Amino acid sequence: MTHFTAPQASALHVLKCGKVRYLISIMKNLLIVLSGPSGVGKGTIVNKLLQGGGYALSVSCTTRPPRVGEEDGKSYFFITKEKFSEMIAQDGFLEYSNHFENFYGTPKAFVEEQLKTHDVILEIEVDGALQVKKAHPEALLIMILPPSANELFARLKGRGSESDEKIAERVKRMEYEISKKLLYDYTVINDDLNTAVEEINNIIKSRKEI
Ligand code: 5GP
Repeated sequence: MTHFTAPQASALHVLKCGKVRYLISIMKNLLIVLSGPSGVGKGTIVNKLLQGGGYALSVSCTTRPPRVGEEDGKSYFFITKEKFSEMIAQDGFLEYSNHFENFYGTPKAFVEEQLKTHDVILEIEVDGALQVKKAHPEALLIMILPPSANELFARLKGRGSESDEKIAERVKRMEYEISKKLLYDYTVINDDLNTAVEEINNIIKSRKEI
């Protein structure tokens, strides 16, 4: 049996407490998954949540090319299909999916690092979100929906960046995403931006108080 002197025992105690505190702090930080159909305003909601402080945003990997104004390492990590396959083989993703002919994935190491200090937001589509829930049942899944399908259609049209064919594709996808809403912990309607953000903050706060 090992005997410790009083100072050694006290140092060990501090170390143990430190480790326990560290583990508790990781456990306390939440994995928050936000999904919702294209055009529902997820990006704006996420920006508002980040401005409020306390959250880190997971930066996904994608094989799709950057759009104008998107920065590598900020909007996404833009990688090749070969690199993406390599990361799959190395178990480097928390989840990944093939969406509109491109691959998207959440890098595991990046999220685990962020979780040490923050609640982490993942803005991902439903198939990936459900993979996260399977691996991490404690993750908080929130689906953001438009007040109505017509409203979303008008928003997509209003963007003016996509053809009618592409919009029709997105509407079909929207129907699929909405069909999964009961698998989410919460649904938030984005009718008014500030109300939706407040609602999400309240959901997160109440989950942390459990
Ligand atoms: P976009 O190409 O418009 O940036 O994103 C298309 C879709 O991919 C969005 O619904 C977005 O939420 C989703 N997405 C972004 N990153 C990820 C990811 O890491 N994993 C999954 N499963 N979906 C993602």
